[in-house]
Amino acid sequence: MKIWKVLSPGVLAEEEKPESIQSPTQAKVKVTKLLLSSAELRVFDGSAGAAYPVIPGRFAVGVVSEAGEDCVGVEKNTRVYIRDVAPCGRCEQCVAGHAENCVHICVAGVDRDGALRDFVVAEESALSPLPPSVSDDKALFIGIVSMCEAVVDGLDAAKGTHIAVFGADEIGNLLSQLLIYRQAVPILIDPDEDKLKLAAQCGIYYTVKADETLHERISQITGGRMAAGSVYTSYCPVPPETAFETTAAGGTVVYTGLGFPSVSVPMKIAQDKRLTLTTISNDYSNNAAAINLLVNNAVDPTPLIAAHRPVAEAAGAFQDGCAALKESGRAPCGVIEML
Ligand SMILES: [Zn+2]
Repeated sequence: MKIWKVLSPGVLAEEEKPESIQSPTQAKVKVTKLLLSSAELRVFDGSAGAAYPVIPGRFAVGVVSEAGEDCVGVEKNTRVYIRDVAPCGRCEQCVAGHAENCVHICVAGVDRDGALRDFVVAEESALSPLPPSVSDDKALFIGIVSMCEAVVDGLDAAKGTHIAVFGADEIGNLLSQLLIYRQAVPILIDPDEDKLKLAAQCGIYYTVKADETLHERISQITGGRMAAGSVYTSYCPVPPETAFETTAAGGTVVYTGLGFPSVSVPMKIAQDKRLTLTTISNDYSNNAAAINLLVNNAVDPTPLIAAHRPVAEAAGAFQDGCAALKESGRAPCGVIEML
């Protein structure tokens, strides 16, 4: 059985490794598709701070090929999403039975081995069975939609409230779609016009180019009130404190992403405006809600997939993605086909 490991930054190696079920509550899953997002690329190029060697691949779907005798929710041939984050099971919160407050969430492909391999053996509890109406391509975004759901909860935005969203990559786009579904009014901001064009095709009405007229545009759209809340997605090529400027006094600013670069933010505007600042990442509690949102077509991630590549071209796909990251700081999502 094949695995692909990042041995050190820029080096992807193929190896053979047996995988077998170790307990009756585990299942063996044939991995069918894997999302190649900028999170994987940052593991490959070394900027995510992963511990090498590591099998990359945070978001994956597959089909159960063998289920342990005590499995109740999955059986042979069940199509599943392999959960991307899990509580550590060792910190004070986990030991006290409050895994939802775990302080060391383990991320697949970063803190533990990910899914760039033929088979994954996992506890049944780490697998989410997929309804037939959720395609594999859509299911690859369950982890990101879960996180967006947590952001929406964190904003607690009333109906009709304007929310400024910085960064029109997969998180900003899906979050904006979800805010519309929740009857809030997202204003998606990005310097890249192509990303805004794609967002408009996804039904996001207010898209604003990040330039010197940004403040004026947000003021116009909100009738001078500015946004009740702003969300800044990590690695967005706009200074992070811009989110303070687009937010009304007393509002909320959420920083979210699959990983955070080290940034400094001048705090004075936030303090003067009495803003509430918060961070949301790595949510796993909303996986079932995310599947429901995809079933209901509340969000559609498929336009965000730029390319499908066979696993035989995995090394090339990583290199191409990293070249894009190096050039512009961003790379579009792709899918690696494992079959
Ligand atoms: Zn923990």
